[in-house]
Amino acid sequence: MATDAIRKWFEQGNALKLQYGDDKVFDLSLGNPITEPPKEFNEILKKVALNPIPGIHKYMVNAGYPETREAVAEQLAKDTGVPFKMGDIVMTCGAAGALNSVFKAVVNPQEEVIVFSPYFREFDNYIENHGGVVKVVPTDENFIPDLDKLEAAISVKTKAILINSPNNPTGVVYTKDFLQKLGQLLQKKEAELKTQIYLLSDEAYRKLLYNGLKYSPIFPHYRNSIMITSHSKDLSLAGERIGFAAVNPESDDHAELTAAIIISSRNLGYINAPSLMQYIVRFLQNAEVPVAEYQKKRDFIFNALVEMGYSVTKPEGAFYIFPKIPAPNENDFMNELLRWNVLVVPGGVFRAPGYFRIAYCVEDKVLEGSLNGFKKAAEKFGKH
Ligand code: PLP
Repeated sequence: MATDAIRKWFEQGNALKLQYGDDKVFDLSLGNPITEPPKEFNEILKKVALNPIPGIHKYMVNAGYPETREAVAEQLAKDTGVPFKMGDIVMTCGAAGALNSVFKAVVNPQEEVIVFSPYFREFDNYIENHGGVVKVVPTDENFIPDLDKLEAAISVKTKAILINSPNNPTGVVYTKDFLQKLGQLLQKKEAELKTQIYLLSDEAYRKLLYNGLKYSPIFPHYRNSIMITSHSKDLSLAGERIGFAAVNPESDDHAELTAAIIISSRNLGYINAPSLMQYIVRFLQNAEVPVAEYQKKRDFIFNALVEMGYSVTKPEGAFYIFPKIPAPNENDFMNELLRWNVLVVPGGVFRAPGYFRIAYCVEDKVLEGSLNGFKKAAEKFGKH
């Protein structure tokens, strides 16, 4: 239902484009990466096409090509300081595939998964697909999870906590200090309740960090942790469906857990991550799209919105910004933007009414063209 809501705006944008023409509609509703994959991607693709590798398109071990998992583990070890090995990595059909395989592996029907609002509402579907129950805990005024509220929400029914940093829809990035406190709290609750609680970290935007901000991994702070990510955003390969899950080598039930994720991937019908993509991303673990381009767009839209009087937290990563709606009624504001052919997603979709999400991963001319609508809406409803 949540995705339908985002798609609804996207489809409305397409209808408006038919009516008014492409260049008159400013669609900021969908998080589809604007940059092309790095040039090395096409070079490897070309090489494979010209010199076919026998067997490359066949079924393989469900966890993925050993060479790819080794390359992923090697880079991840460098990025995190944790000695990852091939056996900790499961290649998946994007982060969405990884999340589904992980939830199937760890969640039993009626067990709870805690998420922090606002959040990417597809999480509801992924959790509920496997009989899990979504439990929502709010974040503070800076969109950082409130640890007191989290502590109060954890019970014997809690199977996992799902975090997402850099965050969709807020662009907020969690600090090392926060992750440390979160890890301490979960450790305390595990001991108190005598249960096992998994910390799942969706890091689909891990490499889209601005102003030289350094990536903070979860692994050093909590042993029962799994990172979930993909190359949809960092290599602009969203349509190719390639990602992975990385299981903390220190987790209590490492062998069983990894085996469960692999078998879940198979049972869900993914079988294995796309073989050609696995072959290629093996060589691209250190590559990324031009992050500076996204940062420029972030600066442009953030500065413009502040100037117009919008109340907004400056995103430090990903390609979304989540300002407050300067009107008492969400629909009135959305309709005003629509009058100027500007499409965004209302905060209610992310369980945060009173806000709206702009996906600024669009061409500069679209971003520039949208400013008039934001300005008109700010003038109409006054400053908040
Ligand atoms: N997690 C978050 C927070 C996302 O924003 C998205 C996609 O937008 C996904 C997961 C799914 O990404 P993927 O294409 O890797 O399945």
